[in-house]
Amino acid sequence: MTGTFSKDTFYFKDLTITEAVNKASLPPKESLSFGATFSNHMLEVKWSAATGWGAPKIVPIHPFELHPGAKVLHYASECFEGAKAYKGPDGKPRVFRLDKNMQRLKNSVCALGLPDFDENEARKCIEELVKLEQDFIPEGNGYSLYLRPTVIGSEANVNTTASSEAIFYVVCCPCGPYFSSKFEAVRLYADTKHVRAWPGGTGGSKLGSNYAGGVVPTKLANQKGYQQILWLIGDDHQVSEAGTMNIFILWVNEQGELELITPELDGTILPGITRDSIITIAKGWGEFKVTEGRITMDQILKAEKENRLREVFGAGTACVVCPVKQIGFMDSVIDIPLEPGSEFGPVTQRIFDEVTSIQYGKKQHIWSTAL
Ligand code: PMP
Repeated sequence: MTGTFSKDTFYFKDLTITEAVNKASLPPKESLSFGATFSNHMLEVKWSAATGWGAPKIVPIHPFELHPGAKVLHYASECFEGAKAYKGPDGKPRVFRLDKNMQRLKNSVCALGLPDFDENEARKCIEELVKLEQDFIPEGNGYSLYLRPTVIGSEANVNTTASSEAIFYVVCCPCGPYFSSKFEAVRLYADTKHVRAWPGGTGGSKLGSNYAGGVVPTKLANQKGYQQILWLIGDDHQVSEAGTMNIFILWVNEQGELELITPELDGTILPGITRDSIITIAKGWGEFKVTEGRITMDQILKAEKENRLREVFGAGTACVVCPVKQIGFMDSVIDIPLEPGSEFGPVTQRIFDEVTSIQYGKKQHIWSTAL
């Protein structure tokens, strides 16, 4: 970047806001289904290789006009983020660790040859969008405004080279709690046939193309009675991720220590922001060992046999933590112990309570910025 006149990024100071004339209001909270309702405005910034980034604009949400030859439509020249804004008891809108989402988006655009940008300028523009849309942040525990920053390669050209045109945009969806009163801990299907990510691949970036291939395997797992796939990698069935969440296991390890373990970031695992938050919080407690490492299905089977498994949960923005009660693997069903009548293990519940109290501003923390 070369100073304020650089076109290598867009700038918050150039942001313009055009408000919608006919604004919809937030639908009844009970009617919200994840990702199906959008707020009134979007953030949009255009880029071209010839002229660099243009000025960011907040405008009424609108469809794009894309040439049918646009690269995003052919070669999945697309990456995205998932973040949330919350309204706490003080009524102030808050965003949770949006700086981390912007850093991850920068990694994703680099993986696709899409244009880089300054993460702080992007974050400030998104925070302005959240402020404008604050009436679309439903109030109450579990409610939030989901933010979907996205970058697409929009050049009309079916050549498989990097796109010479791009659009950075953000849309917002009000959404309700992941956990309903009928919520049950999930069953994971450890899939030995389909692979989400592999060494040298793009699993560590948040690219749309990483998700398209998961739809059918997940449907097949659903038909077998499992809610999510436990993705595995390699002949030794290394544990990778749970659906679109990172996975954590609380066990007594082979050395007899209580340990919270999650797969290490080796390029095949998405560096989840919830994952990072949980590791930091649990290390801060100092009550058990916290490890980023390799875990194989054989180790989990052995731990089950030796009664060393304590809790298993997925972690991600949508749910914070999602407790797991069973893992189906080849001919075995691995049971994760849960107290009768409880769907959350005690550590899973404690992590959920800690992270959500930060997100809603009930507990002051640098991760949660009041706007
Ligand atoms: N893994 C995958 C594949 C995901 O899509 C997500 C959701 N973004 C996560 C993990 C969790 O990431 P985060 O905690 O940042 O939502």
